[in-house]
Amino acid sequence: MTVESYNCVRVSRTALQNNFELLKEKSGQTVPLMAMVKADGYGHGMVESARAFSKGGCRSFGVAELCEAVALRKSGLLGDIYVTIGFRGDDADLFFEYQLIPVIYSVTAAEQLSARAVAHGRAIGVHIKVDTGMGRLGILPHETMEFVSLVSSLPGLKISGVMSHFPESDDPTSVSTKEGLRKFGQVCGELKTRFGAICHIANSGAVLNFADTRCDMVRAGIALYGYHPAGRAGDRIVNDGSLIPAMSYSTQIIQVKKIPAGTGISYGHTFITNRETILAVLPVGYEDGYSRGLSNCGEVLVHGVSVPVRGRICMNMCMVDVTGIDGVSVGDEVVLLGKQGKRQIDADDLADKLDSISYEVLCKLGNNNNRIYT
Ligand SMILES: *Cc1c(COP(=O)(O)O)cnc(C)c1O
Repeated sequence: MTVESYNCVRVSRTALQNNFELLKEKSGQTVPLMAMVKADGYGHGMVESARAFSKGGCRSFGVAELCEAVALRKSGLLGDIYVTIGFRGDDADLFFEYQLIPVIYSVTAAEQLSARAVAHGRAIGVHIKVDTGMGRLGILPHETMEFVSLVSSLPGLKISGVMSHFPESDDPTSVSTKEGLRKFGQVCGELKTRFGAICHIANSGAVLNFADTRCDMVRAGIALYGYHPAGRAGDRIVNDGSLIPAMSYSTQIIQVKKIPAGTGISYGHTFITNRETILAVLPVGYEDGYSRGLSNCGEVLVHGVSVPVRGRICMNMCMVDVTGIDGVSVGDEVVLLGKQGKRQIDADDLADKLDSISYEVLCKLGNNNNRIYT
């Protein structure tokens, strides 16, 4: 017999597939869509999410690290798997063993792959990462042609793609998106004609806001999980409820008690009751990804009503005020993310309180709780 936690993340495969379909529509059905499943599928489970997208017709998947890609391939997933942030030299063989696609940004990595390609007697296609304004990983545009000449002179390597990333595509008025696309276009032009390379730069924000960024493939993450990258502000852009949040998170009440006015709640007594209060204790804390930043400002759903978190969030527990709600008792369901009755709390609500983004909320809740798939 296995004993389950009180706390449970539910992930809807139907929602994942709905979002994949929607993104396919938005990016033009003929443009391949790479599903980003890094960070354990943004907390939704890398393997399960990839399988759901695969059932919807997805053939390309992106992760950050090589170890993620190996795990994904070992799960039996077919299709292209891209490793977007590189690898250590000793691990270069794994790209051949598991048929993975490396994204490279250094001569060293190119040489290591080339040596292994020669040893295996098998050429490998690489994608080159260019930094067209993100200010993060990649070769600068003006250094790209020199890099490309070097890479293309190495035996066993084929330049099959070039990619970049946008820093502000969640904002439809962003100048950096247009500027990045222009720089990317210059790099792509030559690589397409010389090597038949495919070009890809669009993330969720670009797919939703900038139709002209699609190029030969798009790479979407957050929108596949049901959120606009701009958070609340994005609602105004999509605004048709067509993206469906795939994750919900719930727990059960473990104690209910009546306490008098003037009672301090939790560590530091940062909340003192100002009236007789019915307090419910929940077995959820920052260890479960319910951030301590939600102390005295979080809200949860009990009996379909939104109730406030009182006092500090502890490691494994937190308290909510259920005064005035009839018949609240131990074992009652509490929703911390998702719908209950007519009310809903989404990852943007939590992110706003935490001065963060839905991405972080989803990763933390998803990756610190048991997940079940519906
Ligand atoms: C995570 C990631 C994406 C997806 O970004 P979203 O904003 O989640 O759509 C695209 N490309 C790269 C390289 C990434 O790392």
